[in-house]
Amino acid sequence: MHFSEALINWYFTHKRDLPWRQTNSAYHIWLSEIMLQQTQVIKVLDYYSIFLDKYPSIHDLAQADEDEVLKLWQGLGYYSRARNLHASAKVISDNQGVFPQNYEALKKLKGVGDYTAAAIASFAFGEAKAVVDGNVYRVLSRFLGIDLPINSTEGAKLFKEKAEELLDKSRPADHNQAIMEFGALLCRPKNPDCTQCPLQKDCVAFQQNKISQLPVKLKKVKVRKRYLNYLILEDASERLLIQKRTQKDIWQNMFEFPLSETQNNTNEMTTDAFGLSLPTQNLTRLTEKPIKHQLTHQSLYTDFWKLNLTQNFESYPELVEGYTVVTQNELLNYAVPVLIANFIQTHFFKR
Ligand code: SF4
Repeated sequence: MHFSEALINWYFTHKRDLPWRQTNSAYHIWLSEIMLQQTQVIKVLDYYSIFLDKYPSIHDLAQADEDEVLKLWQGLGYYSRARNLHASAKVISDNQGVFPQNYEALKKLKGVGDYTAAAIASFAFGEAKAVVDGNVYRVLSRFLGIDLPINSTEGAKLFKEKAEELLDKSRPADHNQAIMEFGALLCRPKNPDCTQCPLQKDCVAFQQNKISQLPVKLKKVKVRKRYLNYLILEDASERLLIQKRTQKDIWQNMFEFPLSETQNNTNEMTTDAFGLSLPTQNLTRLTEKPIKHQLTHQSLYTDFWKLNLTQNFESYPELVEGYTVVTQNELLNYAVPVLIANFIQTHFFKR
């Protein structure tokens, strides 16, 4: 049996029932594919339905405030996805809501790379374009016995060619769904279920006992360590200061408390370090030890500090410049990184 036929047969017996597989709406498919980037299916399910409830059409999404979109995305990570999604929704909405209809045009949307463009083009428009994601790399490297690193230029080119060669051009959507589902459920990274595999007879890795060695991946770039100190500055009315992260960095356009980034963890901070001319003696550390938060290429070590003012912020007009003054309850309306959201919950609401 041909590779693609075997995969598609397997798929129709074993596939998971996922909401974005029951539609050919480009908007729904695009939304699900952006959410699924680097994120597990189980996590995406809730966010997908919440987003579609809130923004049933691309025009609804386009008209929303970016802050609101980021708030809804909170917890899903990789927030540039939400910003790009929103920016692209505006472009499409301005075009009467008509989506780009093919792979090349889709790639011009912000946040849509090779994989996502091929997925939308095949699922929504039936274009014969092969998807290549982590699951596809794994299936192809094992089935064909390719040991070129999947994250090398040469490797990426070869896998793309092989994926296109093996694609059933008469059923691109089924083929693409099938190979990814097959990689996710059967040809898993660890303990693939080879005994149940319809490709076993022709699988090079299985025949040559090389399954655990494939796919090959070049070592990751070094993880950068960062040390963040956040200040909970509370005025006499228990209000706080927050600011928007506008610089090109992690968490762009999300909110945070006044920040001081240091070279190492420190037991001693000054108000100066936060750019505030206030007495330092009452500054206290709230965290016993730094909270570690892992991003793909960065390890963050975060401490929270606190300082209470005896007067209201209105008495310090220069101090609050550039910040937003909020009550504890209002804090919940702002999109903040998960590590800050967790802190807010424990510190302000679980007493
Ligand atoms: S035989 Fe095993 S390694 Fe080969 S494709 Fe099937 S599940 Fe993957």
